[in-house]
Amino acid sequence: MRIARFTTGEDPVFGLVDGAGEKIAEITGDPLYTKIELTGVTHLVEDVRLLAPVIPRSKVIGIGKNYADHAKEMGGEAPAEPLMFLIPNTAVVGPGEPVVIPDLTTEVHYEGELAVVIGRLCKDIEPQEVPKVVFGYTCADDVTARDLQRGDGQWARAKGMDTFCPIGPWIETDLDPADLRLRTRRDGEVVQDGTTADMVHDVAALVSHASKAFTLLPGDVILTGTPAGVGPVEEGQRVEVEIEGIGTLSNPFVRR
Ligand code: MG
Repeated sequence: MRIARFTTGEDPVFGLVDGAGEKIAEITGDPLYTKIELTGVTHLVEDVRLLAPVIPRSKVIGIGKNYADHAKEMGGEAPAEPLMFLIPNTAVVGPGEPVVIPDLTTEVHYEGELAVVIGRLCKDIEPQEVPKVVFGYTCADDVTARDLQRGDGQWARAKGMDTFCPIGPWIETDLDPADLRLRTRRDGEVVQDGTTADMVHDVAALVSHASKAFTLLPGDVILTGTPAGVGPVEEGQRVEVEIEGIGTLSNPFVRR
């Protein structure tokens, strides 16, 4: 299933998106917590505004340098253990929503990533148990202020500022994350073209590792790292993250 969160001008609701990404059938309640039941109302996707498919209740966990080629372009090696950081849920925005570059930074980069959405409370789980706790997958842009990342010494501002974590366009619940093509485009130009098969630590390893440190709650999101090809994005440009089997997340960048 493809589960989207959207608005027609009223309160946000959830819906099931068809395979072509054209129609959306409303469902009752929040599918993370309630059984999926159709309301009978359908819309064209183009007639609604898609929102972030989930607002993480407690946290977004980011993973740094999880593709060897990206670690190399950042001037190092992939760490032996997954490198984790936290992003506040106030950084999350949905498809089409602008990423607002604040005056605090002059060097903002895109990072196209596969995002894992947790479906069940869990703690201390082993990799083989991970499929049971994953709700689904979506696309993410782990927007990063490189100057702040270098200068601050830790990454709270660099990666956690408001609007710096676009996710969407929807959550795909039936997907094997082992080998998905991931492409990022900046104003239409392909700037990252990788596969999740090149992750140093795979999804099961990452979720298991995260659960050893943190209790994971339904709606928590784990970003899985970015392939090589990161680069700058300026105000007025648009970044798209397309992942095979999911769809395309597209966000404009602005300054205000
Ligand atoms: Mg990243």
